[in-house]
Amino acid sequence: MLADPALKEAFQSLETKLMEYYPDIDMALIRKAVDFASSAHGDQRRSSGEPYIVHPIGVATILAELHMDKDSIITAILHDTVEDTHASLEDIAKVFGDSVSELVDGVTKISRITFRTSEEKQAENFRKMVVAMAKDLRVILVKLADRTHNMRTLDYLPEKKRRLIAQETLDIYAPLAARLGIHWIKAELEDLCLRHLKPEIYYKLAQLIAKKKSEREKYIDEVIKNIEENLKEYSIKGSVTGRPKHFYSIYKKMESRNMNIEDIHDIVAFRILLDNITECYKALGVIHAVYKPVPGRFKDYVAMPKPNNYQSLHTTVIGPTGERMEIQIRTQEMQQIAQSGIAAHWKYKEGRADGANQNKMEWLSRLLDSQKNLKDPTEFLESVKLDLYPGDVFVFTPKGLVKEFPHGSTPLDFAYAVHTDVGHRCVGAKINGKIVPLRYRLRSGDVVEILTSTTQNPSKDWLKLVKTSRAISKIRAFLKQIERTKARELGEEVLERDFRRFRTNLEKATKTTEMAHVIKDLGYKSLDDLLVALGYGKLTSRDVSRKLFPPEVIDSPSEEAQKEKGIFQKIISTALRKSDARNVVMVSGMGDVLIRFAKCCHPIPGDPIVGFVTRGRGVTVHNTSCKKALDSDNDRRIEVEWTKVTKADKEGKPLGPKRSVKVKVFCNDTPGMLASMTQTISGQGVNISQATVRTMKDKKAVCVFEILVTGVDQLNKVISSLESKEGILNVERQKS
Ligand code: MN
Repeated sequence: MLADPALKEAFQSLETKLMEYYPDIDMALIRKAVDFASSAHGDQRRSSGEPYIVHPIGVATILAELHMDKDSIITAILHDTVEDTHASLEDIAKVFGDSVSELVDGVTKISRITFRTSEEKQAENFRKMVVAMAKDLRVILVKLADRTHNMRTLDYLPEKKRRLIAQETLDIYAPLAARLGIHWIKAELEDLCLRHLKPEIYYKLAQLIAKKKSEREKYIDEVIKNIEENLKEYSIKGSVTGRPKHFYSIYKKMESRNMNIEDIHDIVAFRILLDNITECYKALGVIHAVYKPVPGRFKDYVAMPKPNNYQSLHTTVIGPTGERMEIQIRTQEMQQIAQSGIAAHWKYKEGRADGANQNKMEWLSRLLDSQKNLKDPTEFLESVKLDLYPGDVFVFTPKGLVKEFPHGSTPLDFAYAVHTDVGHRCVGAKINGKIVPLRYRLRSGDVVEILTSTTQNPSKDWLKLVKTSRAISKIRAFLKQIERTKARELGEEVLERDFRRFRTNLEKATKTTEMAHVIKDLGYKSLDDLLVALGYGKLTSRDVSRKLFPPEVIDSPSEEAQKEKGIFQKIISTALRKSDARNVVMVSGMGDVLIRFAKCCHPIPGDPIVGFVTRGRGVTVHNTSCKKALDSDNDRRIEVEWTKVTKADKEGKPLGPKRSVKVKVFCNDTPGMLASMTQTISGQGVNISQATVRTMKDKKAVCVFEILVTGVDQLNKVISSLESKEGILNVERQKS
């Protein structure tokens, strides 16, 4: 397999790196992975002309530099096989195990997405998405190594493509490396991005730094010597290094301070490494005693580590030649974390290669602890949180923007996130081009396109489907608005009718200042609010008219009303003489009037009843549950009650006229059944005025008896005596 010299060289450098920290690694397995990838990629070549396999080996070598575990190394070697070749995840699982195949799957999924954006907010979402999609943070480390190797070998691609990849790297991957605490990858990526995005600036910086090389080296040596001597004086043992800052950070400084390259002097950063934390603070004291500190530039990340667990003391002082210089003071251990960040937790350590997950959890819980001390909960935690609580999903709009949703969200949540109207009109969605119902649960990476219809309206059921508070509140608001509209219409109707009594109408009244006062007095902001309250029954039209019209107008009915009442009285008095119902129903507040029993519900004494005044026909009495009564004009409604005379006398003998009622009996059609039923009914002292019998197919019959009863009590007795008879299946009062 090592026939190609480029391949041979790549593999040797990986092996060397692995041997440095992982001497007992199963090299046969690593070779097997290289063979697997090599044969999968076949004749594929990189743009540089090298065999493709050189790239995955290069990626593995970067991970070896981070001292990563065996699975990460193998994943790196295999990372492009599923996407670019015929190899399948099943093949990989068979040969290298589930853990590796899951990692490769994770890298493949991220690689399928192209992140292009110029918006800072979107870049942030993309970064979160990358983290969310990777269940295992090692996936991101492999992806970062992949991108680092691609950036190193970008020169062979056409300029347009180079710029796109570099921009994506700068937006997504360099910040990710920073968050994961892998400083050298972040710095390398940023410098490579600068070279491809702003080559003029990059090469000018390179020139400047090269030109001053000897001068700078002399300066660095001098400062190092100076610091070392001072430390020695206080018996502090430490090693001092100095090196130019990376180009991108110099470039950023130029940009933020609006400076020219020539004006940038503090391009060198010094670092003091010590044995323990006490020594660090001692060293800081020495530095501040020797060089004048620049106010406001001291940062104590030892006492308050960065969210990614970075610890160090930072200070800027005026150096020996009167220039600013940055000094970082930290322990060896802190240095290790600063270099490899989160990767340190998958580091292979002899004897315990697989404590990885536990380490990770420890790392994350320490991260959460340190978070409590920070005022500004940083974005990094946001990202890592997703790994700890695999809750959020990230999906794409058709235009490629990323949106974040809580786990379990549906297309409706997405629709409401786009626009309230899109939410209200949503009928479904296309996910990755396929139509799905509203209850579909979004998954990270979905491309969501909302389908709408102008006839669609939100319903109560939608509240069960949505997860986001935005969608919930928008749906609730819509439903409330519909209800409010209905209430307002009702309120308007009620008030309009009441105003007619005072020979005015709502439109006229609304124009008066009195009306405005009344609205305010009653505690409402607008006429609309008042009408809605009327509709909901929170106040009555009388509450309004009492305030609006003088009491004498309210108490003495209008001329028209008087006239109407006169006619009504006349009708009643003539009708009374003919009526036999006057002993039965007492109409409250009006004395005896003409009473009629509604034909629709046949109320009998004992039934709950209600009356309606009908011009020319007196009062019609309905059963309160009668549908017709419920539909009748409320204004003509009048309270009625059965008089005592309808009840039994002292001996229990029913008094008063009898009322006709129908009883429906469902029974077996057997000989003698009808006779038996009539006997039972007459046995209760009840007369049957009419009976109809209808036989049915399956030897069943329906009989309807019209009987005369004194009231509900007697009726109930008849019903229960019928029910107790054999062969009778059901007995009920017929309502119409
Ligand atoms: Mn790759």
